[in-house]
Amino acid sequence: MLAPAAPAAAETRSGPTASGYGGAVASVDPMATAAGLEVLRRGGNAVDAALAVAATLGVTEPFSSGIGGGGFFVYYDARTGRVSTLDGRETAPRAMTETAFVDPATGQPLAFQEARVSGLSAGVPGSLATWDTAARLWGTRPLSAALRPAAQVARDGFPVDATFAQQVSDNATAFSQFEPTARLFLPGGAPPAVGSTMRNPDLAATYELLARRGVDTFYRGEIGRDIVATVQRPPVAAGPAQPWPYAIRPGGMTQDDLRAYEVRRPAPTRISYRGYDVYGMATPSSGGSTVGESLNILERSDLRALPKSQALHRYLEASALAFADRNRYVGDYTPRPLLDALLTDGFAGERACLIDPAKALAKPVQPGVPDGRYQRCATAPGGAAPDQGQSTTNLTVADKWGNVVEYTLTIEQIGGNGIVVPGRGFLLNNELTDFNFTPTQGTERDPNLPGPGKRPRSSMAPTIVLQHGRPFLAVGSPGGSTIITTVLQILVNRLDLGMTLPEALAAPRASQRNTASVTAEPAFIASPEGQALAGLGHTFTPMAEIGAATAVEFLPHGRLLACAEPVRRGSGSAGTVR
Ligand code: GLU
Repeated sequence: MLAPAAPAAAETRSGPTASGYGGAVASVDPMATAAGLEVLRRGGNAVDAALAVAATLGVTEPFSSGIGGGGFFVYYDARTGRVSTLDGRETAPRAMTETAFVDPATGQPLAFQEARVSGLSAGVPGSLATWDTAARLWGTRPLSAALRPAAQVARDGFPVDATFAQQVSDNATAFSQFEPTARLFLPGGAPPAVGSTMRNPDLAATYELLARRGVDTFYRGEIGRDIVATVQRPPVAAGPAQPWPYAIRPGGMTQDDLRAYEVRRPAPTRISYRGYDVYGMATPSSGGSTVGESLNILERSDLRALPKSQALHRYLEASALAFADRNRYVGDYTPRPLLDALLTDGFAGERACLIDPAKALAKPVQPGVPDGRYQRCATAPGGAAPDQGQSTTNLTVADKWGNVVEYTLTIEQIGGNGIVVPGRGFLLNNELTDFNFTPTQGTERDPNLPGPGKRPRSSMAPTIVLQHGRPFLAVGSPGGSTIITTVLQILVNRLDLGMTLPEALAAPRASQRNTASVTAEPAFIASPEGQALAGLGHTFTPMAEIGAATAVEFLPHGRLLACAEPVRRGSGSAGTVR
């Protein structure tokens, strides 16, 4: 039986903020939020609803997420009071070498777009395995219950909005290189018109097949065979409308790589911050450790007592210091004791002592040495350019029992590697370009070089904040390495700067990732604080928009405040059950 999708959509007032009872959903997309609310109304729990949201986003936000990608799932279980995580990160094939992104002909790293639009960049996808694992561990219904209504959305279609059309248009050259991608997303050679109906019958059939036969069809069966064939022999178009300046390189993924895929269940990172417990994602994401280290550094200052520009100065400096440590130490194989050492108050104290209230530090700052001996301000060589990205999507769900899901999922760049698997209706990821192409740490080891079976470092930072063991706030965002600073800034805005949650999301953003210049939204740069920060020596590079967050706050007496973006990425959609 297919659940009706349309009535739920019709019942849901779509807006970026909602307050009420009985459960809450926030995502970037009204149909996805409606799908999640419908599951909650029918008695499903937060995990059931999160999977419905994620499966729908795979249809309506195909350039940011989907079964060709991966992500990180954080879950608070109300019964046990425990926070658990799932690492569904894409994994490098066993054939991948440390120099996979170096051109053998020149010895130089590949241009980013050459690496991206290829079979080489596709990691073994982890999203479906994540969904299946979450459903089995914590859901009350099988994954098929989430896939079937989403299949119906793919079959019946959904309205093309301005963001969707723009994302196709931005990718038109890459998409036109591949026959199945051009056929699906460039009908008649052009992006679909805003307001037209986008249908994806191949994806509907894929979801229905998965609902019927289970995820083994993907990891050990016919869909997997198609993925491997696509990676090894990208389905290039005979005469693409626009030329592509690079060779389209194949990848080495095999069916054994798909068979070997495993969802990992790392313990979350956890730090305490001004009486709150902040839980995040451990490696291969750097989200938990970098947000956590930054907060530990910030806890050394009483941000509430400082002028806002001083508080923001410390926010920028703390994230620069934490990024230096991330770049030096955090990758898939970081030993847990090292990750935990980065999150100690002793280390944060040493890092915090480098901050000068009167002057911005020269960037890049050097990484510290988390060796347990913190009497002095350590220095060591290093520094790295930040990875940029504006793809990905995030969702937040809470149910009436108090369970919470914070989930960030992605196919890396908007449009992933640009290759739709023929006949299957979904794009593959380019997540492996999140590896560093060449060493970034001078004579020190780079923790994020490619390797066989390795997972590229992520910045995704799904975060759940507890107070006295009960949920207080859940938040996450897309945005490549700006994810870390967006989550951090929202937490600082809410916990320290006296903003409500909607204000904390709406406030102009700035992102200091240990680079000479701070990436910032124009409204931040123009604000009085932005000008005061320039006076301290911070320089800014404008970026129209940073991030697209979703969040839920748990108010007294069971009231929920669900928030999505009011403006960024065409605004998001939040709702509550009652
Ligand atoms: N691939 C990125 C990461 O895992 C996310 C990309 C994005 O948010 O744009 O950190």
